[in-house]
Amino acid sequence: MDYDIIFSKLHKKLESIADNGKVANYIPELNKVDPNKFGVHLTTVDNQNFSFGNANEKFSIQSIAKVLALTLAYKLEDEKLWKRVGVEPSGTAFNSLFQLETDLGIPRNPLINAGALVVSDILISHLKNPKKEFLEFVRNISGISTINYCPRIVASEKATGYRNTALVNLMKSYGNIKNDIEEVMDFYFNLCSIEMTCQELSKTFLFLADYGISPFSKEKILSKSKSKRINAIMQLCGFYDEAGEFSFKVGLPGKSGVGGGIVAIYPNKYCIAVWSPKLNKRGNSNMGIKFLELFTTETQTSIF
Ligand code: GLU
Repeated sequence: MDYDIIFSKLHKKLESIADNGKVANYIPELNKVDPNKFGVHLTTVDNQNFSFGNANEKFSIQSIAKVLALTLAYKLEDEKLWKRVGVEPSGTAFNSLFQLETDLGIPRNPLINAGALVVSDILISHLKNPKKEFLEFVRNISGISTINYCPRIVASEKATGYRNTALVNLMKSYGNIKNDIEEVMDFYFNLCSIEMTCQELSKTFLFLADYGISPFSKEKILSKSKSKRINAIMQLCGFYDEAGEFSFKVGLPGKSGVGGGIVAIYPNKYCIAVWSPKLNKRGNSNMGIKFLELFTTETQTSIF
C-alpha cells in the first residue's frame, strides 16, 4: 500500500476542516509550540517507512510515555502490578481526582495521571537509578540512542503541577505510594518530558505491533500475552474520557499526549504516529484524531 500518497490526500481533506482546538497552556512550556505543525509517520512490522509533513521534528510526547513506563513495570512486577492499579476505563479527565477517593487510592488504569504516578513509584522501587535506567530501556526498544528528557518541560511541569501533587499525596494517604513524594514527582515529570519525532515514536512503539518483539534488536521486550494486554489497555484507556469515541471512530489501540501526539497500533501490520499540537476539549489532538479516522477508513485497517 502506498501510504505516502494516502497521507497527502488525507491532509488535503483536513485542510478544508476548521481546527478549533487549542494548544495546551496549563504547562506553559507546551504553549510555545507552533500550533500549525502537522506530522505523520508509519512504520510497518517489516520496517518500511512512510512520512508526511513535520514528521522529523521533536515534540513532547507527554502521556504517550506512560505506555513505556507501564511496559517496564509490567516486565518487572508481572501480575502483582494489578493489585496497585486497575485496567478499567476511567471515563474521567486525565488529571481527575474524584474517583481516587471512592476507589481508595487505586487508580482505574495506568494511563491516567494517577495510574502513571503509581507506575512511577513501582519503577523507583525496582531500579537503582530510575531515570537513567528507564531512558536506557526506551532507547533499547527503539534502537535510537538520542531519545532524551527535556529539562525545560520538566521545570515547567514542576512549577505548575498542583493537581499531580494532589493526586500523589492522596494516594500516599491510602498507602499506594511507597517512595518519597518528591522522587515520584520528579520521575513522573521526566517521563512526561520525553521528546520524540513522529518517526521515532512509530519505531519505538512497533514492538506492540509485533507481539512484544523489538523489530530492530529482535529482543523479546514483552511476552505475547503481556503485549496483548497493553494493547487492550490502550484500546480502552488511551484517550481518557474520549477512549470510546477514539475506538468508535478509528478502531485501533492507541495513546495520546497533551503535546498533541498520538500513537496507534495495528497488530502484525504497523504503528502510526501523528502530531498536531492543538487539542480538543478532552485534551487529545484535534486533527490527529480526525486524520486517523480518515486514515483507517481509507485504508480499511481498523482491527474490527
Ligand atoms: N504531564 C502531563 C500532566 O501530568 C501529562 C498529561 C497528558 O499528556 O495527558 O499533566
